[in-house]
Formats: sequence, structure tokens, C-alpha cells
Amino acid sequence: MTATKTTTKKATPAKAEPTPTKKAAPKSSGKSTAKYNVAGYPGLARTVRSRLSGTQLSIWFTAEAPQFKGASKPWAIECEDHGKSKLCDTRTEARMHREDPVTFCPTCKAAFKRTSKKAA
Ligand SMILES: [Zn+2]
Repeated sequence: MTATKTTTKKATPAKAEPTPTKKAAPKSSGKSTAKYNVAGYPGLARTVRSRLSGTQLSIWFTAEAPQFKGASKPWAIECEDHGKSKLCDTRTEARMHREDPVTFCPTCKAAFKRTSKKAA
């Protein structure tokens, strides 16, 4: 009575998975034409915290941001903590300023001077 059990695993390939019905980004249907929109703010491309000043900075696409309507340049970086902003020609330029808000925000500049003095 030698019963050699041969368990043949019949692997059922579960290949037939339902195709995910996730659609790609919806086309702008005219309602919200803003390409840049963070947290419901049209024209807001992104927010960052400056490591230098510790303040919150926002990068705006001025054509879509109501508060920058009529701005002479397409991009802007704003120090949210102090409400100071600087217009930029390119998004790259705006992004570069995120590390140095002291160049366009007098309040940050003053604060930075004070802290660096203390540290020295
Ligand atoms: Zn500031």
C-alpha cells in the first residue's frame, strides 16, 4: 500500500484581471481652465517651505492667478508669511528664488540678518 501522493498543483493563472477603468487626466471641459491649481487656488503651481527663512513660499502662474492679473511676467514667487512677491520670467527662475526669499521679501531679509548675526 504505497500511496504516493502526487499533488499536482493546478495553478490557475489569474491573468484575466479587469482592466482598470482609471481614466487619464480629464480634458479641461471649460469649467476650470486653470492648468495650475493647488488646493483650489487657480494659478498656484506649488508651495514650498524655504529652508533659509522657514517661511512658506508659493510659486504662481500669473496668467491664471487672480491676484496677479495683468502682471508683466508669467511667473511669480510669493512669501506667504509676509505677502511679498516677485515676478519672474520663467518657472525655473521662480523656483530658484525659493531658497533665497531674502532677495525679494524685506521682512525675511531683516529676519535673516538678525539670525545670522546672532549665529555669528
Ligand atoms: Zn518673507
